[in-house]
Amino acid sequence: MSPNTTNLSPFRNEPFTDFSSPENKRAMHEALERARAELGQTYDLIISGSAVRTSTTFHSVNPANPSEVIGIHYAADAEQANEAVDAAQRAFSLWKKVSVAERVALLVRAANLIRQRHFDFCAWLTLEVGKNWAEADADVGETIDFIEFYAREALRLDAATTPIQYPGERNLLRYVPLGVGTVIPPWNFPLAIMAGMTAASIVSGNTVVLKPSPDAPTIAARFLALMEEAGLPDGVVNLVQGGPEVGRALVEHPQIRFIAFTGSKKVGLEIHERAARTQPGQHFLKRTILELGGKDTIIVDADGDLDAAVDGVTASAFGFNGQKCSACSRVIVESSIYDTFCDRLKERVEKLTIGTPADNFQTGPVINEVARKRVLDYIAIGKSEGKLLTGGSAIETAAGGYYIAPTVFIDVSPTARLAQEEVFGPVLAVIRSENFDDALAIANNTEYGLTGALYSGSREKLDRARDEFHVGNLYFNRKCTGAMVGAHPFGGFNMSGTDSKAGGPEYLTLFTQAKSIAEKRGSVSDVSGD
Ligand code: NAD
Repeated sequence: MSPNTTNLSPFRNEPFTDFSSPENKRAMHEALERARAELGQTYDLIISGSAVRTSTTFHSVNPANPSEVIGIHYAADAEQANEAVDAAQRAFSLWKKVSVAERVALLVRAANLIRQRHFDFCAWLTLEVGKNWAEADADVGETIDFIEFYAREALRLDAATTPIQYPGERNLLRYVPLGVGTVIPPWNFPLAIMAGMTAASIVSGNTVVLKPSPDAPTIAARFLALMEEAGLPDGVVNLVQGGPEVGRALVEHPQIRFIAFTGSKKVGLEIHERAARTQPGQHFLKRTILELGGKDTIIVDADGDLDAAVDGVTASAFGFNGQKCSACSRVIVESSIYDTFCDRLKERVEKLTIGTPADNFQTGPVINEVARKRVLDYIAIGKSEGKLLTGGSAIETAAGGYYIAPTVFIDVSPTARLAQEEVFGPVLAVIRSENFDDALAIANNTEYGLTGALYSGSREKLDRARDEFHVGNLYFNRKCTGAMVGAHPFGGFNMSGTDSKAGGPEYLTLFTQAKSIAEKRGSVSDVSGD
């Protein structure tokens, strides 16, 4: 490895791709063709850099066309989980001694390779999880951003000093790695979140066992192959595929020092509890970095820009079919504009185009049959709790994709299930508020606290919301999705997680432990500065 990290340019977010350009359109079509030519391949588990196969396989499929197999993957169980932890443990003894500059150089090479294959990764995201082109592009861009940002953060942390030099001493603060961790990502940002948590772990000197979501295993397998191409040493990232069983084995493993998890509240709470139980042979407190679900709210105040609010709510609620932790699933509208807002929203939502992500429709399928059923169950609940404004049913297609019409319920009570529980699909509840105080009280009435937004033309109300709207990511006069690395460090309050602020300046401290070292000045003659 030839580290050349001293002259890294300042971090800049990756630009979005303009798909209205014929050149980019053609590039995306070609990438989809290349991906289609490779569908249905079998991918190995990777432990200590070697391919591992088991007696069981599972398929990942295209949610727009479930008969299309995207990848076939060997399913790991506790045996492979244990082997992978052992491999990561062996690799840790070497990786922790590799200079920060070399670890950073690995990340920079990986980011460059992803840049070169930007359209290919977009195509795999479109086919495996059903992202339309813009959503896939944002996922790939965020992946590069996380990797480039954490590379620079690792250098910054490596140069950290104590705030004070105590008289007569030389004081140092070194951020050292934790050890072996497990990275357990969700399926909905299967490249950005998976790669982001992995990059943060390894650039900090840790080694990991990566267990991707069984709904997006191919993207993770292809990412790991790219990391190997970038020069990842054997055992630094080990890949095991499977569901809850292998996830539990990793979380409970006595040598797993930290768990970087992003996913549902239910699973996050289970991990929190399991990780707290000390296992025989365990000699540290496990650290959990848990980013969970949301019930994200947009407040539309009577003095806000109504057109912008209708657009922002529609984009936040139905972008990627509401399958974002940050998706708006409740909008609170002041009584005086409520009817107008509802009329405009109905008109706007009914203009959304629905169809296959590969053909770049605005909305597409939900991820799988379980999700389809869950969302339809919530629609049934909505029909008893509110008034259906638009949507409200599944859409059948010849290919059997998991489509559900963008659905809006109005007149939903602030305490209804539809106003309190995460749906994670294209369903929006509209709630009426009497005034701004009422709106803020409703906005804060769930167990979550991830994202929120306010549309208002009043500086006073924005200031009040800044202080009183209790969420980890708050936006004014814009949508509540689309956090940018560096500008919007991301993480939620309350049951939305441990507020780790991915893409923020403290993130890498979660993957390290700080060692404070004090040396008496003059005690050894060769100490620099004496
Ligand atoms: P999920 O909780 O079902 O699964 C997440 C991961 O955990 C998967 O890899 C899964 O295989 C694994 N897993 C499942 N059961 C496990 C267990 N018992 N022990 C260990 N691992 C286990 O979530 P999902 O459906 O993949 O993703 C959607 C959820 O993620 C939503 O709730 C969404 O809000 C949340 N999410 C949060 C953020 C955030 O930053 N806060 C970002 C994206 C998604």
